[in-house]
Amino acid sequence: MTLSSVSKFWGAFAAVDDVSLDMADGEFVVLLGPSGCGKSTTMRMIAGLDDPTSGEIRIGERVVNDVPPGERDLAMVFQNYGLYPHMTVADNIGYPLKVAGVPRDERMRRVRAAAERVELGEYLDRRPSQLSGGQRQRVALGRAIVRTPKLFLMDEPLSNLDAKLRVYMRAELKHLQRELGTTTVYVTHDQVEAMTLADRVAVMSKGKLQQVGRPLDIYNRPSNVFVAGFLGNPPMNLITIHVTGGRVEGAHLTLDVPAGVNGSVTVGQRPEDMRLDAPDRANMAGEVYTTELLGDSALVTVKIGKDLISVKADKEVETRMGEQVGIRLDPKHLHFFDTASGKRIDVANGAAP
Ligand code: ATP
Repeated sequence: MTLSSVSKFWGAFAAVDDVSLDMADGEFVVLLGPSGCGKSTTMRMIAGLDDPTSGEIRIGERVVNDVPPGERDLAMVFQNYGLYPHMTVADNIGYPLKVAGVPRDERMRRVRAAAERVELGEYLDRRPSQLSGGQRQRVALGRAIVRTPKLFLMDEPLSNLDAKLRVYMRAELKHLQRELGTTTVYVTHDQVEAMTLADRVAVMSKGKLQQVGRPLDIYNRPSNVFVAGFLGNPPMNLITIHVTGGRVEGAHLTLDVPAGVNGSVTVGQRPEDMRLDAPDRANMAGEVYTTELLGDSALVTVKIGKDLISVKADKEVETRMGEQVGIRLDPKHLHFFDTASGKRIDVANGAAP
C-alpha cells in the first residue's frame, strides 16, 4: 500500500496534508495521533469512503483512486464493529462471502475456519446481542479474515473494550496478523496500542505526518517536540531553557549543554531516565507535588519553577508532599529540540539512546 502526497481539504482546511507512506507487504502500520489529526480521514481515503483532494493511493501495484470501495480488495474493522443485529454470528462472518457470491457449502466451511481462528466456533448460532463486547469484536475480526484481502483497515477496533480485554485482544490481534501476513493499517490515538502492535508507527498531528519509524526508534529518537510529548506514559518531561555559550541561563537547571545547542532550546528527558537525589547533588530541585504508586514503580511529580517534572522512582520511595527533593538527569538520555521549530537537535553525544 502506498500513499503519494495525499491531501484532503474541506474547503480551505487541510484535514490531511501531503501525506506519503510506503508500506511493505505484510507490514503492520499504526497511524497514531490525537483526536482530529486526520488519521481516520487517511484511513477512509484508503478505503475509498472519502476521495483525496490530491495525491495517489496504490494497493499492491494498482492505483485505486477511482476504484469503488467494494473493489479495492480490503476488509475493514471499525470501533462499533458494524454487525448486523438480526443475523447470527455465522451469517455476520459470512456476509462478505455471500456478497461475493460464494456457494453456500464453501461459505460455511470458510465461516467455520474463520470462527475457529477467533475462537467463536461455539457461538455461530448466536446473535450479536447475546455476546460480550469482546466476542462481538471477534465477530468483526472474523468477518475481516473470512476472505484473504490485500489489506486490513482497522479504526480503533479495541476502544470499546474494557482495559483487561483490550490488552488480551491486542495480543490476539497481533498474533493473528502475523499468522495471516496481511498488510494492515490500524488507526488509534492510544500510544501504548501503537507501540505494542506496530511494525512501524506513523505519528500524525494537524493533518501532517510527523514521524514514521519502528516503535523503539520513535521512542528513543523523537524527531520533534510533538512526538516526544505524545509517546510515553507518562510523557517525556520537556523544559524550555535558554543557552548562551554552553551555559543555561535561569536558576532552575544546572546542566552541561553539548556543543551545537544554543539559544532557545527545549530539553527533554523521560521520567524513567531521571533519578531523585539530594537537592545539592542534583541538576534541579523543587517541592514534591504528588507521589503516585503505579505498581511496579512510583511516579513522583516535582514542582520546579512553573514546571511539573515527573520522575519514575522505586515503588518503596517515601516522599512527602511539599518536601524538597533534587532531580538528577542522565546525560546519556537527554533530548534537545529547537524551541521555535520544535525540531530535534542532533548532538554528537548525549541525545542518542
Ligand atoms: P478522531 O480520533 O477524533 O476520530 P481523527 O484523527 O480520526 O480524529 P479525522 O476524523 O480524520 O480525525 O478528522 C480530521 C479533521 O478533519 C478534523 O479536524 C475534522 O473536524 C475534519 N473533518 C472531518 N470530516 C469533515 C467534514 N465532512 N467536513 C469538514 N471537516 C471535516
